[in-house]
Formats: sequence, structure tokens, C-alpha cells
Amino acid sequence: MNFKVFVSEKAYQQIQAEVKRHPGRETGGIMVGFRTPMALIVSSVSGPGPSAIHMPFSIQFDEAYCNRRVKQLQRQGKVFKYIGDWHSHPFSKLKPSKIDKYSFKVKSLTHYGTTNPLMIIAGPDPLIPLQAFLLQKGIAQITPELIDSETMLQLKKQAIPF
Ligand SMILES: [Zn+2]
Repeated sequence: MNFKVFVSEKAYQQIQAEVKRHPGRETGGIMVGFRTPMALIVSSVSGPGPSAIHMPFSIQFDEAYCNRRVKQLQRQGKVFKYIGDWHSHPFSKLKPSKIDKYSFKVKSLTHYGTTNPLMIIAGPDPLIPLQAFLLQKGIAQITPELIDSETMLQLKKQAIPF
């Protein structure tokens, strides 16, 4: 299957700004988006909130802030859902840690608006590469592609419920 992950330029710019703000420590946030038959699209992301705890090898989100941002961003339309979280790895590889995998699976049952959520891990400044992981039976690694707002509008016409 050639399933794709697209990240809007706007969402990537938000990730870049957040990563630059916290060099040497992890940061992250929620991701809201929609899906089409062949792709998952990350349309907007947030930071982790003012009470988040940033450490070199972990990030603890400000849960109240993240919940508020999810609700705000989902209000953009019926197709938008809380599809997962992103976080940065300033030092380690762009692979989910054991704790990342565990919280990903738990949150797929308790937090996310889908049982097939996405995790994005961002590398450090200046390149800030992204790697995406889709939870299915296992965890599939997919390299995300950036899309401009025009492409996103075209994809939104093919949005399906999930
Ligand atoms: Zn991690």
C-alpha cells in the first residue's frame, strides 16, 4: 500500500518555530488533520503549552492547553480530527522510543480521534527533518511530504470519515 502522510507548510512552520524556541530540549504538541482514501493530512499543529516540561530526552505536555487547542482546531470543520502528536528529538534518532510507543498506543484509545493515529518526530535545527509513524497493526514509518495550502484545499475535497 502506498499510503502517504502530508504536512501543510503552515504546520511545518509552526513545528520549526517551536523546535527553534527549545534547542537542546524536547518540545511538541498536538496535530489536527483529516484523511483521504490514500493519505493522512496534518493541517495544523500546536506547541505543548505554557506549563509543559521540556527535558533533553522527554517532553510532558500541558494537558489542559493541549485539550483546548484540539477543540479549537477541530472547530475548523467536520473533517478535522485530533490525529496524533508530534515531538522533537534534539539528540536521539528520529525513531519512537519505548515510552513514545507506549504513550502512542495508550493515547490512541484515550485521546486521539482515530485508532490509527500518527506520530511525527522532528529532528534538530537547522534542518528540522520530519519522520512520521502510523499506528496500524504495528507502527509503519512513512516519510512525510510538505504541501502548500492550495494542494491541501484540493485534498480536503476528497476527505473521508475515519
Ligand atoms: Zn520521543
